[in-house]
This record gives sequence, structure tokens and C-alpha cells, in this order.
Amino acid sequence: MQSETIVGPFTDIVQQSTRFIWEMTSSNIPNDLRWDRLLIMVSLSLILFVVYKGHGSKNSEGRERKAKLLEFLFPKDIYAHVSARVDIGLWILERCLRPLWVVALFSTIGPTTEQAVISLLGFSFGPSPELESTFVWMLLYAMVSLLCYDFVFFITHYSMHKIPALWVIHKVHHSAEVLTPLTRSREHFLAGPIWAGGSAFSFALVAGTFAYLFNGGITPATILGAGFFSFIFGLTGAFRHYHIQLHYPRWLSRWIQSPAMHHTHHSYLEKHWDTNMAAVTSIYDRLFGTLYIPEKDEYTPWGIGPHTQHDYRSFWQNTTGPFKDWYKMLNKGASPQAGAISDLNGARNDRDNLKKVSQ
Ligand SMILES: [Zn+2]
Ligand SMILES: [Zn+2]
Repeated sequence: MQSETIVGPFTDIVQQSTRFIWEMTSSNIPNDLRWDRLLIMVSLSLILFVVYKGHGSKNSEGRERKAKLLEFLFPKDIYAHVSARVDIGLWILERCLRPLWVVALFSTIGPTTEQAVISLLGFSFGPSPELESTFVWMLLYAMVSLLCYDFVFFITHYSMHKIPALWVIHKVHHSAEVLTPLTRSREHFLAGPIWAGGSAFSFALVAGTFAYLFNGGITPATILGAGFFSFIFGLTGAFRHYHIQLHYPRWLSRWIQSPAMHHTHHSYLEKHWDTNMAAVTSIYDRLFGTLYIPEKDEYTPWGIGPHTQHDYRSFWQNTTGPFKDWYKMLNKGASPQAGAISDLNGARNDRDNLKKVSQ
């Protein structure tokens, strides 16, 4: 039996806009933890298992080895690892907090950016040319959104790697010692607003431009209700935190990030540091010189390296880690930045030493 509830106008507006914001976010952000995509990921892995005769999956040390089917798909040493357990905790925390960031930032940064773009274009070029929307335009809209999103993602990610005070937040993602599909959401809770703010800004920038050109009469092309390109690339997103290597041909890897390319992003070997930082394409990594296309079966030990790993292992350590690191930075040198850099270099030298020992 359904009961009718009276919804007041204010609640109605909030509900409508929240739903709209939520739909917009979920359809545009290459979001991966969806059953259909996970199912495609596992099906593709089965094909890889047959084609490579049991090769192509990595163990918890990031080393490729031949495995039997169950071990190939769900290696025990990966799923029983403390890092995989911490992934679950961080994922739950992120899930609980995400709606806050998304709604707060999409409803502030989004509209402000969009209106600013429309006003600026109107001021510079006069009234909207009122172009006619066609499917090709809608496709272009989706593509430009994706390229812009990827660029903002790249810049945000690059800054998180290069600016010591931000690296301590992002380190939580890199402290994963094994890769599972949940590692995608393994982030410190302070990283959520940074990523959400970047997404809101990038989508609003393009939305404002297209709204101006088409006088508001255009929507991006979709496929099965999802953002056209995010649907295609969502799969890449899911697969990049899976221990099975999915390589693309070299020429394609120069345009689109293959999932295997993210394996190197998570490796603590020096040659892999700060590489492959975009979410979808390889264009920006090529432009900024951070592209790294791994060899087949390349060894990629995951995590931040044993010398600093013990500080970032449990859920509690990962949640409090950035605050401790900031405190250390502030107390180390005369200026926080100088302290930050020496702290970071310290950690990196540790990883260097380890590399020499392990080779
Ligand atoms: Zn990173
Ligand atoms: Zn990652």
C-alpha cells in the first residue's frame, strides 16, 4: 500500500535538484563500481585467461605468474591482504561522505562557473548564436566534456603528486599494497572534495559554453542512460585497479590509458613514480612527459615502499596519516614548505634505497 506524502515546495526543489545533481554526476563521472561493469571486467578476464593460458594476472607483490582459474580471478593473497580490508573501510567512509561533497560542490562551484562562462561569452561575443542541436553536436559535447574532465583530473592529480602538502592526502590512495576494484575509492576523506570540486568545475565550464552556443537547448549524447564516453571508459576505470593486466596495443596506449598503465602508477619503483596521471586519455601525460607504457608482465610492486609503508597500513593510520604528516612538516623547518619537501624527499630516498636493495 502506498501512502501519499505531501511535499512542500522547498523540499520539492531540494529533492529535484539533488536528484538532478546526482544523476548528472553518476552519468558523467567515469564511475566504475557498478555490477554491469564488474561483470564485463570479469568476463573479459576469462577471455584473457584462455588466450594467455593462465598468464597475465599478478600476485600481491605485483609480479606476474601462471595461475589456475580461481587464483587468476581472485588471488587469495590479494583479497586476504590487510590492504584489501582497509580498502573496504575507506570505501564505506568515502561512500558516506561523497553525497555531501557532490551536492555541496556541484550546487556551488557548478552553477557559479556555468553562469560565469555564459556571462563572459555573452559579454565577449554578444547574444547566443542559437545553434541547432544535432546528434553530432551532442557527441561533440560529450567528447569535449570528457577531454576537459580528463585535463582537470590530470592537473589535480599532478598537483597531488608534486605538492608535498597535497601528496600526504593522496598518499592514502598509493598506500594500497594490492589492487582491488575498491582501491579506486581508496582515498583520504579530504581528497573527496578536491576531486568533486574539479569535476564540478570541468563539467560546468563545458556546460556553460555549450549552453551559450545552443541557447541552453543541448544535452550531451548518452548511451544506455550513461554518459557516452564515460560508459566506454568506465570499464577502463574498473579494470585499472584490478590485478589482471589489460594492455592495449602500444599505439592505442598513446591515446587512451590502458588499465595496465595504472599498475605502474601504483608501483613504488622509482622509474614508475608520477607516471600515467590522467583518468582516461594519454594525451596530457604525453604533453607533460609523464606517459609510461609498461612492458608485458612488467614488475610493479604496489604501495609506497616498505620503509614508509608501516605508517600507512591500517584504516586508522590512513585516516590520521595526513594530519600527522602535516604536523611533522610544520615542525621540521622554518617554513612548512621546506619541511614538507625534506619530509617527502626522505620518504622518496627510502624508496630509492629499497629499489637498490631489491634489484
Ligand atoms: Zn596518484
Ligand atoms: Zn589508482
